[in-house]
Amino acid sequence: MKVGIVGAGMVGSSAGYALAVMGLASSVVLVDQNHDLAVAQAEDIAHAVPFMSSTIVEAADYGGLAGARVVILAAGVSQKPGETRLALLERNAAVFKDVVGNVLAVAPDAILLIASNPVDIMAQITQRISGLPASRVVGSGTILDTARFRSLLGRHLGISPQSVHAYVLGEHGDSEVLAWSNARVGSLSLAEVAAQVGSPITQHVRARIDDGVRNAAYKIIKGKGATYYGIGAGLARIIKAIARDQHDVLTVSCVMAEIGDVRDVALSIPRVIGADGVSEDLMPDLAAEELEGLGRSAQLLKDCVESISL
Ligand code: ADP
Repeated sequence: MKVGIVGAGMVGSSAGYALAVMGLASSVVLVDQNHDLAVAQAEDIAHAVPFMSSTIVEAADYGGLAGARVVILAAGVSQKPGETRLALLERNAAVFKDVVGNVLAVAPDAILLIASNPVDIMAQITQRISGLPASRVVGSGTILDTARFRSLLGRHLGISPQSVHAYVLGEHGDSEVLAWSNARVGSLSLAEVAAQVGSPITQHVRARIDDGVRNAAYKIIKGKGATYYGIGAGLARIIKAIARDQHDVLTVSCVMAEIGDVRDVALSIPRVIGADGVSEDLMPDLAAEELEGLGRSAQLLKDCVESISL
């Protein structure tokens, strides 16, 4: 399977590296307006390939994306320290108008996987610009927040995050909702497992995990200027579901017809994803305050997307 990546900066190249490590694609093609950067990143990743897979990694212009089953859109301007994701909006919307047209001209059947922030808004803008069905325009959404939530819960309980089933919903950003009420470990509720292993989820623990999930990106940006390894691996994980038609349940962002009182907005809930993109939305059972939080997140995103003129 060929995977295209537009935007060979930190996020795009990390996704390319993760794809090569995991051996998920036969070919990865990097495109960037800074062609020298795309060439350098492709070479660097290609030199790692002999140690782990046989993926062909190269740089190209848009023509090189012909035949790609998935194209990751990671182009844009990156988040500055202290800048909210929503503040990035206007700058990235302009970039996407250009990029989406160029991609679809050569890869009209590709699934578009959006990574640029604010990702929910960018996914919705992409769907609008492209006119593609929502199932084929997938934002990385809260896949990373969900991974962080599982990791912190797992660490607290002394259990692998892969055995923790917990989701972060809504916006990938400040209004996101940690779905504590339906978190499970194995087949048991969080409270039951926490009692059994003697690590109760006190208010203090809950606040610490909540803060760890919500503010992880801000802390990393403060320390090193950007986040990229986590999201790079998250993007590769989504592509694994597509490449192998796994019908995995992942929290990705897609435009949905309605959520609560809000119509036509992109945000994350657990979704089934395989070779054709998103095939099902799996709306979870939520506590009343979580449902309200999700409604607020949807409204915030809707207000934001309506404020952009395309
Ligand atoms: P991030 O940390 O989100 O990856 P970067 O700034 O490292 O951010 O990477 C963004 C990349 O997107 C840059 O390499 C930049 O050259 C590229 N880019 C910006 N605008 C366009 C565009 N219109 N077409 C293709 N690539 C673009």
